[in-house]
Amino acid sequence: MKPDLRELYQEVILDHNRNPRNHHAMEDPSACARGANPLCGDTLTVYLKTANGVLQDVSFVGKGCAISQASASLMTDAVRGQTLETAEALFQKMHAVLAGSTDAEAPGKLAVLEGVRAYPARVKCATLAWHTLEAALHQDSATVSTE
Ligand code: ZN
Repeated sequence: MKPDLRELYQEVILDHNRNPRNHHAMEDPSACARGANPLCGDTLTVYLKTANGVLQDVSFVGKGCAISQASASLMTDAVRGQTLETAEALFQKMHAVLAGSTDAEAPGKLAVLEGVRAYPARVKCATLAWHTLEAALHQDSATVSTE
């Protein structure tokens, strides 16, 4: 990885960890899901409000390492206002990117998450938000685990 991407990655992660976007519980959500990454002790709850096939609002609460919380913050920013199809496609793409697929490219601000590949032990911290989103999109009330 280029040094400037590594620097940008650390900057964005720290910023989103200190000032997480959409970080609150939601009253009356259309769907919500809980996720956990036992390897690191990260937990997340993702809330969705949907209307007419669009994610009107997305929020999360959670505890854990900077990467898990910053990834959740970036995820909510990325899918808020998108259609359910777009959110699903974004999950598939980010799953591939974070799994190390070189064919996939993270769009926009999410590109910084590619930086996590330099830290293989933290990949599950970064994917947790996306797996939890996926569970919420499918209104799967079961707790997901990245284990
Ligand atoms: Zn973690």
